Amino acid sequence: MKTCIACGMPMATAAEHAMGDPEKNYCVHCARPDGSMQSYEEKADSLAGFIVRTQGLDREAALHAAKAMMAKLPAWREAAK
Ligand SMILES: [Zn+2]
Repeated sequence: MKTCIACGMPMATAAEHAMGDPEKNYCVHCARPDGSMQSYEEKADSLAGFIVRTQGLDREAALHAAKAMMAKLPAWREAAK
C-alpha cells in the first residue's frame, strides 16, 4: 500500500489516490480539482486550517505545526529546506 507523499495518509483503495488513479503517489486531499498536486503553500494553508479546526490552535501556531509536519514528508523535503 502506498502512502501519500504530501500528507502521509495511507491510500488503501484506488479512490483515495488523486483522480482515483493508483499510479498517482498523492491522495485526493492533496490534489487540486484538476488532479495536479497542491503546492507547498496550498498544502500548508489547508493543513493549518485543519489544525485550527481540530486542535484549536491560533493560525500562526497552526501554520508552524503544519510546516513542521510537512518537513517529514517526501514531497516537501526539498521545499522545506
Ligand atoms: Zn495527501
